[in-house]
Amino acid sequence: MLNVNKLTSLEEELSKASEKGMKIGLVPTMGALHNGHMELIKQARMHSDYVIVSIFINPLQFNQAEDFMNYPSNLLKDSDKLKNAGVNLLFNPDAKLIYPKKPSVKIDFGGLSHKLEGRFRLGHFEGVGLVVMKLFNLIKPNVAFFGLKDLQQFVLIKHIVKEFSYPIKLEGIPTVRGENGLALSSRNTLLSPSGIKIAAQIYKGLIWAKNNFETFHASEALKIQLNNFYQTQEGLSIEYCEVLNSNTFKPLKSLQSGKKITLCVAAYVEGVRLIDNIFLRE
Ligand code: AMP
Repeated sequence: MLNVNKLTSLEEELSKASEKGMKIGLVPTMGALHNGHMELIKQARMHSDYVIVSIFINPLQFNQAEDFMNYPSNLLKDSDKLKNAGVNLLFNPDAKLIYPKKPSVKIDFGGLSHKLEGRFRLGHFEGVGLVVMKLFNLIKPNVAFFGLKDLQQFVLIKHIVKEFSYPIKLEGIPTVRGENGLALSSRNTLLSPSGIKIAAQIYKGLIWAKNNFETFHASEALKIQLNNFYQTQEGLSIEYCEVLNSNTFKPLKSLQSGKKITLCVAAYVEGVRLIDNIFLRE
C-alpha cells in the first residue's frame, strides 16, 4: 500500500491507475478506523479495481474546537489495518494541502444542510460538503463509498453529485453495529464500558420504534413514547429524535402515508455525541 501525502505523488499514482483503465474507488474517512470503515473498504474492493482511502480530520466540519481536539486518531494502527485489507493507496493530507488558505468561498448546500445535524452543529455540512468536493476534485474517483450511519450526510452528498454533475457513482453502505446493537463509531473509543452500555440503548429504542410504529397514527405520538423510553435511561441525553421522509428528509407528520420513513436520533453519553438512524418503512 502506498502512503501518500503530496499532491504530485497522488497525481502520479492516479495517472498510472487510469492508464491501466482501472476503476478508482474512494472511501473518505477521518481515521480511527473500525469495522464500519472496513466494511466500506470491503465493498470498495468488490466494486472497484484501485481502492483509495483518505484519512483527514477535517477541521471545517467541527463546530466546537474541543470536539476537534479530542477527536480520536491512530495513524499507525490505521495504516496497518488498511494494508491488511488490500487498500492500494492511503491519502493522508495535512490541513495545509487541503486548505492552503482559509477558504474564501462558502457554499450553502441548501435546506437539507440546515436541519438535524446542521441545526445542532452549525456549519457542519458546509465543512463536509467542501472537503468531499475537494477530495472528489483531487482524486476523481469512479465510485465513492459512504456509510448510511451518517444518513443525512449521504443524502446531502447525493445532492452535491447531482447538482455539480460529478461523474461519480455513490454507494451507501448499511450501518455496521456491535453485538449490543451500538452503531460503530470512532467516537465510541471515548466512552467507558458503562457508557457503551448506555449508548446501546439508542439502538434498542430505534428497534422498538421499527417494531411498533404502525400502531401509531402520528409521528409525534411515536416520538413521545420513544423519548419517554430514552428519558428512563440514566446517562443518556437526547438532542433530537426526528421522523422523516427517507427520500426528501422532510419531517413526516403521518406514519400511515405509505412513504418511506426514517427515524434519526442524536444523543450525548458521557459528553460524547452519537448519532444513529433506522429505516422504519423501507
Ligand atoms: P468517519 O471517519 O466517521 O468520517 O466515517 C467515514 C465513513 O465511514 C462515513 O461514510 C461514515 O458514514 C462511515 N461509517 C462510520 N461508521 C460506520 C458504521 N458503523 N457503519 C457503516 N459505515 C460507517
